Amino acid sequence: MAPQYDAVIVGAGFGGMGAAIELGRLGIDDFVILEREDDLGGTWHVNRYPGLAVDIASVTYSYSFEPNPYWSRLFAPGAELKRYADHVAAKYDLRRHMRFGTVVEGARWDEDQQHWVISIAGTEPVTARYLLTATGFLSQPHIPDLPGIDTFAGKIVHTTAWDDAYDLAGKRAAIIGTGATAVQLIPRIARRVAELTVYQRTPIWVVPKVDVTIPTAVQRMFARMPLTQKAARLTSTSLLELMMVSAVLHYRQVRFLNKGAELLARAHMRAQIPDRELRKRLTPHYSFGCKRPTFSNNYFPTFTRSHVHLETASIERIEPEAIVTADGHRTQIDTLILATGFNLWDVNFPAIEVIGREGRNLGKWWRENRFQAYEGVSVPHFPNFLTLASPYSYSGLSYFTTIESQMRHMGRLFRELQRRGASTFEVTERANAEFLDRMTRRLGDSVFYLGSCEGSRSYYFNQHGEAAILRPTSTVNAFREAGSFPLEDYMIGGQSA
Ligand code: NAP
Repeated sequence: MAPQYDAVIVGAGFGGMGAAIELGRLGIDDFVILEREDDLGGTWHVNRYPGLAVDIASVTYSYSFEPNPYWSRLFAPGAELKRYADHVAAKYDLRRHMRFGTVVEGARWDEDQQHWVISIAGTEPVTARYLLTATGFLSQPHIPDLPGIDTFAGKIVHTTAWDDAYDLAGKRAAIIGTGATAVQLIPRIARRVAELTVYQRTPIWVVPKVDVTIPTAVQRMFARMPLTQKAARLTSTSLLELMMVSAVLHYRQVRFLNKGAELLARAHMRAQIPDRELRKRLTPHYSFGCKRPTFSNNYFPTFTRSHVHLETASIERIEPEAIVTADGHRTQIDTLILATGFNLWDVNFPAIEVIGREGRNLGKWWRENRFQAYEGVSVPHFPNFLTLASPYSYSGLSYFTTIESQMRHMGRLFRELQRRGASTFEVTERANAEFLDRMTRRLGDSVFYLGSCEGSRSYYFNQHGEAAILRPTSTVNAFREAGSFPLEDYMIGGQSA
């Protein structure tokens, strides 16, 4: 029986839209994009907390083939990213493929029919020849299991479910977490509330954010002379590659870059916080890059304001109207903000249950045999499946560089299928094992293993202590390999209809 669709994409964020654009380029139009939320845009649709903005310069944080000359700032606010996603969807006519409010529960490879059966909550399953999951890295919110949290009587909100109608004016608020989200949120919240207590478990490295508005004249220049924006992109991408990729992943070779970034973060703090004791409490005790560093000019100064308090003792329990720390200190609050991030390793890899050939369960297999994916996209025993939010796929720079490498990989693979009139592919065990060996070896050069990362509590590390998210090569290498991987690394077969 022929499947209902040529392809199913799970996720209508930038990753899923990139995959859809690539399918279009390949002449494949018979596909559906299944999305659990009520609109497209992924993280930029879900997140709308105050202060939300990109922290990778916008000229870099966008598709290279779809530059937006009209970013209002060097680091665009979140709402502009959502508008950009809408623009891309309109330009590439993607909305007609999307089904919103559709929660994919799992997918199973049907060996007899040689297609995927994708189960959806509350409705009939769909079938497709190819399955592409673009479920993102940071899409499953982490709600901490703190004693008494269910008894809290005031307002409680996770940053991924911001309540725009809730007025913070005059509130006694607490925020748990000091990751990239909190770094953006804290300065904004502090302006509104009467009291703010920040519960920090692990400090974060913060470097200056060189952010400015982009004058209309420059926007016009970008629009009229796209080469100028290309040059801006190249400059910003190269700088970020040095700081966020080389300094972290090639620590053995360019340790001085890493040390330089750490010195910059320390100097930034010294310039902004006169109080030595406060600086000490905000200073991380792990190497720069063990945890994703962040950029801000107003995070540190916020802690110098009289109504903002930094609490570093661990939280013992939550009471209906207070938080109590291990040293017995009780802080009265009426608003509890959870900037507690995401659960990657337990529930996100993969975000849905995926059962491949001979009943292999992807999540179980990853947990029992190390997290792995050939070139960050395919896994043996999972035919006709590309997993776009995978171990070793993220370059550590802009997520768009990862998306575009994956689109390129898709293009090369599917064009070969078309050339041979074939309908199935599966990566070989050998190619996958060689790739994993290479990634493991190269990670030995990274700050994760050569720096001091104990105590960083970084989500880059999985439950086995492996830093298995970032691809330990340059972004250029990832892009080059996506367009030149040996085609023999795949078993290609079947006959297209
Ligand atoms: P995160 O980096 O995982 O930070 C979560 C914070 O919550 C950490 O400080 C963590 O402390 C704390 N936490 C979690 N459970 C806790 C508990 N039970 N008790 C006390 N503290 C607890 O999450 P995030 O800030 O949402 O950022 C996630 C990622 O999203 C970033 O790394 C970045 O890649 C991305 N992001 C990007 C942007 C942007 O580009 N605009 C903005 C925001 C986020 P520990 O560190 O001790 O675990």
